[in-house]
Amino acid sequence: MNVDFANLALARARERVPFNDLTIQWREIADDVRVDLQALFERSAFSAGPFVKAFEDDIAAYLGVRHAIAVNSGTSALHLATLAANIGPGDEVLVPSHTFIATVWGLLYVGAIPVFCDVDEATATIDVADAQSRVTHRTRAIIPVHLYGQPADMSGVLNLAERFDLKVIEDNAQAIGARWNNALLGTIGDVGCFSFYPGKNLGAAGEGGLVVTNDGQLAERVRSLGNHGQRERYVHTDIGFNYRMDGLQGLVLGRKLKRLDAWTARRRQLASRFQVGLAGLPLELPVVRNGDHVWHLFVVRTPRREELREHLARANIETGLHYPIPCHRQPCLQHLQMDRNSYPQSDRWARELLSLPFFYGMTDAQADRVIGAIHNFFRS
Ligand SMILES: *Cc1c(COP(=O)(O)O)cnc(C)c1O
Repeated sequence: MNVDFANLALARARERVPFNDLTIQWREIADDVRVDLQALFERSAFSAGPFVKAFEDDIAAYLGVRHAIAVNSGTSALHLATLAANIGPGDEVLVPSHTFIATVWGLLYVGAIPVFCDVDEATATIDVADAQSRVTHRTRAIIPVHLYGQPADMSGVLNLAERFDLKVIEDNAQAIGARWNNALLGTIGDVGCFSFYPGKNLGAAGEGGLVVTNDGQLAERVRSLGNHGQRERYVHTDIGFNYRMDGLQGLVLGRKLKRLDAWTARRRQLASRFQVGLAGLPLELPVVRNGDHVWHLFVVRTPRREELREHLARANIETGLHYPIPCHRQPCLQHLQMDRNSYPQSDRWARELLSLPFFYGMTDAQADRVIGAIHNFFRS
């Protein structure tokens, strides 16, 4: 045999490490989904219907919550939760400035005012002391975002909410299955919103979202508003929306939900591997402070972010930025006339953060290649 080991090693070293790879999840559910798909078409269960109902029941049981309403995106979930919580024109709602913009779309759709708050220096979740300093007589609610897979400081959030009589709407698009004091995120506030965008820890084969609550009346309102504002067919009590989930998404999500805890366990292993492998470098690693972490993203920080990103790109390693522009600097929000200089931590996160490749199915070898490339960067 004439194997060129040097070249083989070189080829390995250059192999692309993708930011995410959803095909590994697909291979695990493919056999089940093929059978389900047959049933879906036979029953023409395309919009809502039995597969979505089954998924709602399963996820309500998984989360230990009374009501789960499946919808067509996380954005829709947040919009419906805002409406059902009776938040309307002129109402102020406290939200972290460092988040994905969809956290505030629902507020803007109803004419409410997002009041941006700075974030915690270590966890990038809402800084409750800063939030408190922004409370006015018009403040009606707070939206903690469980960013990157880690809980926001929910004791602080709940205290603040109680003191000022605020509704708590959890944006749990990124931390399904994570806990704060033994309670699953999304089930702690008045209402919890989830996203099943394909890249999320529990991802659909397209768009999807979920609203959960233990409040029966709120659940009724969410369900009705997302289904053309009707409780009874063709009786439209409210101006509604068509936010129903597709049958296909209910089917795929039901299959994935059964595997979610195992997939999260693997994410935790990978996170430890990165934590150990990157320890001691001039790089800020994620800290786990407010509860457990389900590692939607593995985000590090360095003032040399751009250089490091380019170095990894040259090594054929994909990275991401979540998120490079904080909400208080977004062009579409400048009418809110915020003091853009009152968010020092949020600005620093945006400047220094870098999301490393991280996904269920990533191999130890891929992780080690990323770790090795980062060591090389700081050596040179
Ligand atoms: C993904 C995400 C959303 C929006 O969900 P979509 O399903 O994409 O509409 C909202 N908030 C956060 C923090 C997210 O990461």
